[in-house]
Parts: sequence; structure tokens; C-alpha cells
Amino acid sequence: MAGVPALTLNNGNGIPQLGFGVYQIPPPQTAAAVLSAFEIGYRHIDTAQMYENEKEVGEAVAASGLERGEVFLTSKVNNNRQTREEVLASFDETLAKLGTDYVDLMLIHWPLPTVRDFTVAWKALEEVYREGRARSIGVSNFEPHHIRRLLAETDIPPSVNQIEVHPYLIQSEVREFDDEHQIVTEAWSPIAQGDVLDDPVITSVARTVGRTPAQVVLRWHIQRGDVVFPKSVNRERMRENFALFDFELSAQDMETISSLDRNGRRGPNPNEFAWVPR
Ligand code: NDP
Repeated sequence: MAGVPALTLNNGNGIPQLGFGVYQIPPPQTAAAVLSAFEIGYRHIDTAQMYENEKEVGEAVAASGLERGEVFLTSKVNNNRQTREEVLASFDETLAKLGTDYVDLMLIHWPLPTVRDFTVAWKALEEVYREGRARSIGVSNFEPHHIRRLLAETDIPPSVNQIEVHPYLIQSEVREFDDEHQIVTEAWSPIAQGDVLDDPVITSVARTVGRTPAQVVLRWHIQRGDVVFPKSVNRERMRENFALFDFELSAQDMETISSLDRNGRRGPNPNEFAWVPR
């Protein structure tokens, strides 16, 4: 099977375009799921302080026998870590839990514009970037006007913006903004947690190309140029979601899938979301 391509970030670092997401995998199941993902060939894991399974991701990396440099690890600063000191302390905890002395990518999980000044957390991430302990830094759930503030008021432009994207929310405006600013878009909930898979348009394209609905939707993301990391605890589905590089969608299929856009956000609106864990 053809390998997973790498995209190049705005600081020159590579990122595997396909990874494995661990949101909502309960900690006791996480190490086994990540080990299965490694066996299948995934080399990019997307976790977060909020998911409370960084330690188990680290256990899987250690148990895998893979060299640290063969694996791309992303984590995210939690919403309750807002000050410089809290960001730096939580970053140290992330490294300890993952059992490593650097992450490949560290993100601010949510901008929380009604709660805090996110430039404070960003400046703390700039520090760990300069120290080489985060090889790249980026944001998640940032709207263009949030990123504009970072570009105007801080030194290092984000390498990545991780946002909700799937056929019911194609995010043309944010993705265009990201492109214009050399920011790679990562698409979270790429199959809308399964919701788009029985859409008749998707199942029809799937029949035409002889692939599953999940493969068709994930391939649509890949051809748009985004990074994806579908989550599954089911080994067969992990395999299915990894087999994306030996077929192609036509321009017509791409357009047909994009036409499903309906502002169908599943997660919160980043301009309003204000949830801070205790
Ligand atoms: P996904 O769109 O990846 O969907 C996951 C769901 O779909 C699970 O219920 C899974 O069930 C099911 N599924 C997976 N593969 C298949 C398949 N081939 N056929 C049928 N069903 C399938 O949703 P997520 O929300 O998990 O998003 C992926 C990742 O994005 C997360 O794990 C996380 O890393 C990131 N994320 C980031 C957010 C942010 O705010 N930055 C927010 C949300 C997600 P099963 O496990 O039983 O197979």
C-alpha cells in the first residue's frame, strides 16, 4: 500500500497527513488502541491534556519499540491553563506523561475569547518552541479574526489550525484564510463522528469508486490538502481508515461531496465556547 504523505509546515517541519485521534478513548483502552494503530502503520497521534489519556499514549509509544523520531505526537493546552505559568507547567506535565522530551506539535485547544486573552498562552508556547521542546506550535478552533490578533501581536505565526471540518461543515472561509497565511488546516471529527456515513450522496460515491463511505470522506479531506486523524477503537475500522492512498476521487466527486455543506457544526462555536474545566 502507498505510504502516508507528509505535508510541510511553515517552519519547514513535516507532518504526516493522516494520523490517529484519541478523543473519547477511555484511558484504560488508549494504550491498546494506539498500539493497534502503530501496528497498522499510523505514525501520528493526536491527543490533548483535556482527553486525560496522554500517559497511555506515552505507554503505547514506549511499548511499540518505535524510535521517538518515527512518531509525530500532538497535544493541546487545556482550557483551564491560561496564564504563562500554567501553560509552562502543564506543558512539562504533557512531556512527562508522554514520556518524551519534546512534542512535535503543541496547540492551544480553544481560543475562549470571552474568558481570556489567548495571546498570553501563545507567548508561553513561543517559549517552548524556542527551546525546541515543541517542534511546532499551533492553534485549534481559532477563527480568522483570532489568528489575525496573533499575527499582529506576537512573534511566531501558528503552523497549524485544527478545526471542525467534514462534508456538512466544509469551512471554506477559515480554510482559505489558513492557506493564505501558510497555516495547515487539520480537520477534526473528519467523518462527523459517523454522522455523514449514511448520507445517500456519500454512499452513492462510495459505490461508484468501490470504497467504504468513511474512506470516501477521508479521501475527500486528503485531496483538499487537510490533515486528518480519525478515531476508532475498532481494529478493522482503523485499517479501513488507513487505506486511503491507493484510489482517487474525481473532481466531480469532490464537488458533489463539498455540495453537502450545510453549516452543520457538531461542536461548539469557537466565538462563544467558554467551557473551563475545574
Ligand atoms: P471522528 O469523525 O473521527 O469519528 C469517530 C467516530 O466514528 C467513532 O464513534 C468511531 O467509532 C466511528 N468510526 C470511526 N471509523 C469508522 C468507520 N470506518 N466506519 C464507521 N464508523 C467509524 O470523530 P472524533 O471527534 O473522534 O475526531 C477525530 C479526532 O479529532 C479526535 O479523536 C481528536 O483527536 C480530534 N478532535 C479535536 C477537537 C478539537 O477541539 N481540537 C474536537 C474533536 C475531535 P469506533 O471507535 O467505535 O470505531
